[in-house]
Amino acid sequence: MCITRDERVTVVDGGVEQAKAGSGERLERYERLYIGGAWVAPQDGGMMESIDPATGRAWAIVAYGGARDIDSAVAAARAAFEGPWGRMAPHERAALLRRFADLYQRAAPELAKVESRDNGRALRESRADAGGHHTAYHWFASLADKQGGRTIPLDSAVHAYTERLPIGVVGAITPWNVPLMAACWKLGPALAAGCTVVLKPAEQTPCSSLELAALFEEAGFPPGVVNIVPGYGANGAGDHLVTHPGVDKITFTGEGATAKEILKRGADTLKKFTFELGGKAPHILFADADLDQAINAATGSAWALCGQSCALGSRVLVERSVYDQVAEAFTARAAKVRVGRPLDEATHMGPQASRAQMDKTLSYIAKGNDEGARLIAGGAPAEVAGLEGGYFVQPTVFADVSNDMAIARDEIFGPVAALIPFDGEDEAVALANDTAYGLTAGLWTRDLGRAHRTAARIRAGVVWVNTYRYLRWSIPYGGFKSSGWGRENGMEALEPYLETRATVISTTGVFPDAYAS
Ligand code: NAD
Repeated sequence: MCITRDERVTVVDGGVEQAKAGSGERLERYERLYIGGAWVAPQDGGMMESIDPATGRAWAIVAYGGARDIDSAVAAARAAFEGPWGRMAPHERAALLRRFADLYQRAAPELAKVESRDNGRALRESRADAGGHHTAYHWFASLADKQGGRTIPLDSAVHAYTERLPIGVVGAITPWNVPLMAACWKLGPALAAGCTVVLKPAEQTPCSSLELAALFEEAGFPPGVVNIVPGYGANGAGDHLVTHPGVDKITFTGEGATAKEILKRGADTLKKFTFELGGKAPHILFADADLDQAINAATGSAWALCGQSCALGSRVLVERSVYDQVAEAFTARAAKVRVGRPLDEATHMGPQASRAQMDKTLSYIAKGNDEGARLIAGGAPAEVAGLEGGYFVQPTVFADVSNDMAIARDEIFGPVAALIPFDGEDEAVALANDTAYGLTAGLWTRDLGRAHRTAARIRAGVVWVNTYRYLRWSIPYGGFKSSGWGRENGMEALEPYLETRATVISTTGVFPDAYAS
C-alpha cells in the first residue's frame, strides 16, 4: 500500500531543530528511510539537517541510515533479486519503469523545487534538468528487453551461446550537485538490466531521492527492488555499502579521491565498479568560429550550476587573435548574471551547495591571484539582500591563465572561468589534453576539416563541436583518464550492470575416457 506524501513528509513549526536553525521558518521532515518497500525509522542512523545553501539554515530534517539500515536494505535488495524481480520478464520490468517514468514526469516540477532547496541550484536550471529525466527513464526501459546474447559458430559437436544477465545487487552512491540526474543515470539502467538497487544520496542533498522512493512505490515495484537510504560517506552508510559482501557492484559519481578510497575499501569483496568522476574540460574557441554563439556557450557553461558540474568548460582556450575580444565579452556577460534566491524565477545562478564548497572556490580564487592570473570579473562572495548567510560567489573570470596554474589544473567546482590563449591547432590540442581529466571537451570552428581533425585528437569521453553540454540519455557519457570508468547513457548504459554467461551444449553427449589407453 502506498503512503501519501503528507504521511511521509511532515512540516513542523517548532522544536529543537527549529531553535538550532535560528529562524522562524518551517522545517520539512523526512523521517523515514525506504527499505524493502516500507517507510522505516533508522535502526542505527539518526536525523540530520539538510541546509538551504541560500540561507545557511536547515530547511529539512532527514532520516539517515547506519550500518544496520544498510544491512536491511541489502537483504531486501537480495530477496527481491532472487524473488519476484529476478523472475520478472524483461518486458514486464520495462513496463514498470515506464509507469515510473510517467509518474516522474508528473512530479518533476515539485522535484525540481526540492532539488533547488537542497543544493541551491537556480530553479530555472533544476526545472530544465529534472523536467527531462522521464525521457531518460523511458530510454532505459526501452533497452530492458534488448540485451540478447549471441550464438557462437563452432562445429557440429557443440551448440554454444551467450546470455546477458543482471549483475545482482547494486550500491548507487550519488553526489550533491545533480542528485536527480545521477539517480536517474544509475537507477534507470540498473533496473532495466534486472538488478536491484540500494541508493545512497549525498548527505547534503538527500530529499529529492526520498521523493523518488514514493514514486517507485506508487509505480508498483516489488518491495526491495529500490531502497533509498540517505547517509554519510566514509564513516557511514556509504562505506558500509562499499564493503558489504552482499553488494555485487558500486556505481559512484563524485570526487576522484573518494573513488580511490572506495576502490580500496571494495577490494576485499572484489566489487565491480563504475566511476563518473571530475573534469577540467577544455572549451576551445578558434578565431574562425561564430564567436557570438561560442561566447554564449562558453559563458553559459562556465557558471551553470554555480560552476558545480563535472561537464563545465572551465578551461576556455581562446585563439590569440580573438583573445581580447572574448575576454571583454566574458567580463560583460559576468555583469549580467543575476545571482540570487534559487527559487526566484529571475535568478540565473544560486549559491554554492555548501559552505565547504564556497570556501574551496574562494581558496582557488586566492590561488589564481597569487599565481599571477589577471582577475577580470568577480573574485569575491556575492552579496544577496536578505540572504546574508547564503553561500553566494560572484561569477568569476581569470584571464592570462597558464595551463600549469592550479586554477587550470584542479576541478574547482565553483563559478570560475580560466581563459588561456593559444596559437594554432596543435597548441590547442596539446593544452586540451594536458590535464589529468578526460570527461568532456568543446570546440568552436566554422572549418569542417578542423572540426573533425581536432575532435579526433582530444582525449575525452564526449567532444562537443559548435555546441556545449548537450547531454542526452541516448549519448554515452563518461570519462577517459582520471575522469572515470565505464559509461552512463547510450546503448552502452546497461553494460556495466550485466554479466555474460556462456553455455556450451554437446550435440552428441559423447565424452571420451581420458584414461582409456
Ligand atoms: P564526494 O566524492 O566526497 O561525495 C560523493 C558521494 O560519495 C556522497 O554521497 C558521499 O556521501 C559519498 N562518499 C564520500 N566518501 C565515501 C566513502 N569513503 N565511501 C563511500 N561513499 C562515500 O564528493 P563531495 O565531498 O560531495 O564533493 C567534493 C568534491 O568532489 C567537489 O568539490 C567536487 O570537486 C567533486 N565532485 C564531483 C562531482 C562530479 O559530478 N564529478 C560531483 C560532486 C562533487
